[in-house]
Amino acid sequence: MTAPIGLPALETTLARDLSLLGYPHRDWVPLRTHLGRPILDVLVVGAGQSGLSAAFALMREKVKNILVVDAKPEGKEGPWVDFARMVTLRTPKHVTGPDLGIPNLTFQAWYEAQHGAEGWTTLKLIPKELWAAYLGWYRRTLGLPVRNGVRVGALSWNAQAQAWEAPTTSASGNETLLARKVVLATGIDGAGRWEAPSVLQGVPKKFWSHTRDDIDFGALKGKKVGVLGAGASAFDNASVALEAGAEVALFFRREKLVDVNPYRWAEFTGFLKHHSDLDDARKWAFISHFVKMGQLPPADTLARARNHPGFSLHAASPWTAVETVGERVRVTTPKGTFDFDYLIVGTGFVTDLSLRPELENLKDSIALWSDRYTPPESQRFDDLGRHPFLGSSGEFLPKDPSSPWISSLFCYTFAGLPSLGFAGAFISGLKYSLPKLVDGITRQLYREDADHFLQTLKAYDAKEF
Ligand SMILES: Cc1cc2nc3c(=O)[nH]c(=O)nc-3n(C[C@H](O)[C@H](O)[C@H](O)COP(=O)(O)OP(=O)(O)OC[C@H]3O[C@@H](n4cnc5c(N)ncnc54)[C@H](O)[C@@H]3O)c2cc1C
Repeated sequence: MTAPIGLPALETTLARDLSLLGYPHRDWVPLRTHLGRPILDVLVVGAGQSGLSAAFALMREKVKNILVVDAKPEGKEGPWVDFARMVTLRTPKHVTGPDLGIPNLTFQAWYEAQHGAEGWTTLKLIPKELWAAYLGWYRRTLGLPVRNGVRVGALSWNAQAQAWEAPTTSASGNETLLARKVVLATGIDGAGRWEAPSVLQGVPKKFWSHTRDDIDFGALKGKKVGVLGAGASAFDNASVALEAGAEVALFFRREKLVDVNPYRWAEFTGFLKHHSDLDDARKWAFISHFVKMGQLPPADTLARARNHPGFSLHAASPWTAVETVGERVRVTTPKGTFDFDYLIVGTGFVTDLSLRPELENLKDSIALWSDRYTPPESQRFDDLGRHPFLGSSGEFLPKDPSSPWISSLFCYTFAGLPSLGFAGAFISGLKYSLPKLVDGITRQLYREDADHFLQTLKAYDAKEF
């Protein structure tokens, strides 16, 4: 058995890799100010896997006047050590992405440096806490400029500064940042919000939670819990409730559990790299079929719940009504009524830019798919129509030509799905979506300063001899 080399040794090798790959070395984006205020080249909102790897990708292209902010404390970014209740990632362990093709920056290299090659061989899937720890190491070892505890509010365009005004709130006070480009890496729900079904309207919150919520599972010991949804999160939460000693009944709308995962189908170069190059009709046809295929729990997640005697599955059982009966809730389905002490809904999120505080001032200026494409009736999905109609690098496009500056804002969230395929909020999409994002940003920065660069060329007189 080969002894693990340890993280310090890995970091030394990585530092050498980065210096070997450092060409071209020169920082190139001219610094800008406005009325004495510094202007960032790029502000990245969100320090999860998408925001961190976008920052690294920018720095590799020598765009360094950047800042990443996150509302959450350091180490708590994203869902991994917050509301994610699965044991491991669903993504296969060998999937790369944040490493940008640098072997010693991969999750595998980080893991092997601590647990050896044999340890890697025996690892089946990546525990979620380890993924969060890897991202923490990634951020520290690359020296990424991140500020935690900073929440970005409603963005607005400052035409004089040719930059975004990004108001921020934090414990140390409010500040408005200026940035030429902004990347919204705000998460899987970053273009909408986690959503509970309307059937729960009027039911006091003390009787139910969404899987995104903090849930006191200890209080569910010996209780009867109803769970709605058949995606991974519904089963994850059902399992945690079962492990806490509850009896759990899980309800879903379809006749049977979905057992084919379109996301696994999608993990090949063609789709990951070139969905964004298709015509609108084909883009829509692919993604509407994804939606039609539906969500499923990974096999180990399903087994985790099914292994409990107190677990029951209810197919073709949407909740048609929910009402309180004394200190309990009564759920009505086409197959009967069921009384519970508590309900958990795993109904995911909706995409709707009007729900995003960051886009409060911009929501009516951003082109949506419903503005640009009318699908055949058989492919109609209203939620998909509310997705932004993005440019090839994930830039928002203006609803009308009067606001071209909208394209200085980049959507690096799950909402890139119809336009780009797997863009933000997908581990398996990072490898191909990051270069597209950064190409779009460096292209805009260079074009906007092209006259400046021409002047620098004309003024260039570094004598060769
Ligand atoms: C429970 C769960 C399990 C998942 N499992 C997998 C998996 O196994 N494989 C996979 O590929 N994908 C998985 N995903 C999908 C996706 O990879 C994750 O959602 C991942 O966290 C996305 O990374 P991200 O960096 O885009 O967003 P996040 O990790 O969510 O980070 C976004 C950050 O933005 C910050 N933020 C948001 N708005 C603001 C604001 N206005 N100001 C400042 N900060 C802000 C948030 O605090 C958050 O930390 C899972 C998602 C969930 C919810």
